[in-house]
Amino acid sequence: MAKKYTSKINRIRTFALSLIFIGFVIMYVGIFFRTSPFWMTFFMLLGLLSIVASTVVYFWIGMLSTRAVQVVCPNCEKPTKMLGRVDMCMHCKEPLTLDPALEGKEFNESYNRKHK
Ligand SMILES: [Zn+2]
Repeated sequence: MAKKYTSKINRIRTFALSLIFIGFVIMYVGIFFRTSPFWMTFFMLLGLLSIVASTVVYFWIGMLSTRAVQVVCPNCEKPTKMLGRVDMCMHCKEPLTLDPALEGKEFNESYNRKHK
């Protein structure tokens, strides 16, 4: 079974977006505790923290994007950004590599974790 991979930047973006939603859900839960000021404040702060965290993650994506290598995808010919030695095209999920030694090999995320 082939695992479904997505581009790293896209994945982090999805994570940041879900953090915002989680933050709102937590704040919404806080409304049910409006009779108890402590728990309501607790949930509101937790939700706020989650939204702040997502802002930090978005900021982090911005930092990562500046370090990402811009390449033109050989498959769909659109410009895409890649992180690490192997990544996926943002548009067509074509596996891309910067390392000629890995070219043609099956896509494996563990290549990113190898250090020399
Ligand atoms: Zn592509």
